[in-house]
Amino acid sequence: MLHWDDPVSFIHSLSAHDRRALKALEVQTVGDLLQIFPRRYDDFSHLTSISALQLNEPVTIRATVKEIAQVKTFRRRFVIIRATLSDDTGSIGATWFNQPWLLKQLKPGDEIFISGAVTQRPRFGRGFTSPLWEPVSDETLAAGNVAPVYPLTGSVTQKAIRKLIKSAVSETELPQDWIPEDVLSRLGLPDIAAAYRFVHIPSTSAEAEQGRRRLAFGELLIYQLALRSARREADTAGAPVVEFDEPFAKKFASSLPFELTTDQKKAVWAAVKDMEAARPMRRLLQGDVGSGKTVVAAMLAALVHRSGQSATIMAPTDLLAKQHAISLRRTLAPFQIPVLLLTSSSRVLVQGGEETKLTPTEARERLSQGRIVAVGTHALLEAGSSPPDLALAVIDEQHRFGVEQREALIVSSRSDGKVPHLLSMSATPIPRSLALTMLGDLDVSVIRTKPAGRSPVTTRIYLGPEGREQAYDLIRREVAAGHRVFVVCPLIDPSDVSGAKSVEEESRRLSAGPLQGLRIGVVHGKLPSKDKDEEMGKFVRGETDILVATTVVEVGVDVPEATVMLIEGAERFGLAQLHQLRGRVGRSSLQSYCGLLTTEDQGVAERLRVLERTDDGFEIAEADLKLRGSGNILGLQQSGQAIFKTARFDDLELMAAAREVSAELVSQDPGLENHPLLKQVVEHMRQTSHGE
Ligand code: ADP
Ligand code: MG
Repeated sequence: MLHWDDPVSFIHSLSAHDRRALKALEVQTVGDLLQIFPRRYDDFSHLTSISALQLNEPVTIRATVKEIAQVKTFRRRFVIIRATLSDDTGSIGATWFNQPWLLKQLKPGDEIFISGAVTQRPRFGRGFTSPLWEPVSDETLAAGNVAPVYPLTGSVTQKAIRKLIKSAVSETELPQDWIPEDVLSRLGLPDIAAAYRFVHIPSTSAEAEQGRRRLAFGELLIYQLALRSARREADTAGAPVVEFDEPFAKKFASSLPFELTTDQKKAVWAAVKDMEAARPMRRLLQGDVGSGKTVVAAMLAALVHRSGQSATIMAPTDLLAKQHAISLRRTLAPFQIPVLLLTSSSRVLVQGGEETKLTPTEARERLSQGRIVAVGTHALLEAGSSPPDLALAVIDEQHRFGVEQREALIVSSRSDGKVPHLLSMSATPIPRSLALTMLGDLDVSVIRTKPAGRSPVTTRIYLGPEGREQAYDLIRREVAAGHRVFVVCPLIDPSDVSGAKSVEEESRRLSAGPLQGLRIGVVHGKLPSKDKDEEMGKFVRGETDILVATTVVEVGVDVPEATVMLIEGAERFGLAQLHQLRGRVGRSSLQSYCGLLTTEDQGVAERLRVLERTDDGFEIAEADLKLRGSGNILGLQQSGQAIFKTARFDDLELMAAAREVSAELVSQDPGLENHPLLKQVVEHMRQTSHGE
């Protein structure tokens, strides 16, 4: 019998090749292996016949390969394989790109399962494009009619992983269930051991879903419990009280170059009320890109300073932290409030109109003196980087909500043991159902109205080569008018995580041809922070006209003269992300444009049309949620380790159940003392969630 924590090498059937492959996937224990969950299932008990195929519907067919050959192309190193497949009812084509090995693996006469959707393409006609396939003789299929499809990378084949996981499930002593039995039976969910079996070796699709629901409920319940216990600890510790100085607030507001919008005022007021209490504030400020969240944070930071304490503002990137530092400096300087910028690469203190570069030791020293507004990246959460009198922590553009950040704030708490107030700011609108689950008890302020004087961004989808020409015309025209342009490239090559390759290639291509003579700068993840600043600086000052970049420009970058956002390969981005990118322009009264370059595929363009139609972030978020279903609206997966592996954002009913059950458990047994297993799992989640 295997145990959950045993190394995978204990599995009998593990070959040396599999061992290496699993190592690359960072699968070390049997438990890790069993937590690779199927992305979907191929239900081979429900096959479609070729004559019944509908466009754009995911299906599985069983067919015979009639012909298979490489198609001649003029582009070197670009391989197209075409096959004709047939069954008793008809025949259909399939096309694969850059998979030359298929010619060796598939021969005329082979019987295979094909999974995918039939599309209609201008160049290739009606057929499957890069479908998944599997030989009919495959033994794993004979075993059950429903085959799990695992998300794999590297050299592990679907077949190998199915076999491995299957034997691991049957040989492993599965963990004892930590959810009370009565809860499971009330909700009609299987226990955890059965759930693992159902998910990995289901006999029907319904059974697989049953298993997934149990695991998903477990994730949601633990998450809720972790939120609740973090909240309880924070409440017990209490928060520093921030006295409100109303005359100062008025003076501050009137020092701004604009009038605060009603929603901005409301947001400030709500936070002021929260911070006057000894219960730690946990508030989310939601507002579309450009709605003016920064000034809300600045005003609260000023009020905290006024009360004699410190505030920090954290941003996800160096770039954004620096930009915040600049804007805070402008708004806080008239009040002699010291601002310290702290990122991995720079430490600058601005005080009394003077700017001083500090050494790491000096920066720590200054922080330890307190009564300061510190702006930075997550470096601010590191030990010794947090002022001892921290009363307010603002987290900007934080897509990762929940336990993580709160834990971090409790851990790095003040010397008197109090927990600072927390304001999270996000431009990702979250539908209410999700918000309740993800944020638990967080209070929410929303900025709906945008500052006056903004003209809406005109959005247009550009299809194919002709569209591309039109987009470049627009760019040349705008640059001639003295405006600036962003060109955003998607990451195409999986080995190019920083986007360096995509960005550099695109910039070379543009300067050699379509945008010859214009001044082009580049920003991507591989540039040292100093060069990145320099490139950004040039763009901000207008020394370059065009900035070719990855999505690093997605968050917060504010360049009022930028009037064009052109997005390459728009189909590769989520709608919410495109909306964020679009928010980088239209930041002044100048007419701005957002161009979405995409392929001539009709289905793709259809998805993007929402952006042409509306500018409402909430509507776009809902559309994204619907379209992508299990998609990842909160960017949770970007954090490297997804909090939820099996729960999906459309599990609304399970979310509600998890909320209810967690409330019940905590009210009966606040410290979970009578549920030791459950307590252990919750503690584990809390410890691992903020470990990055
Ligand atoms: P976001 O909510 O996306 O972080 P910002 O805080 O960066 O938006 O604000 C975008 C721009 O709007 C900034 O240039 C800011 O100075 C300006 N702004 C903020 N509030 C107002 C207002 N009430 N009236 C006019 N302009 C404003
Ligand atoms: Mg912002």
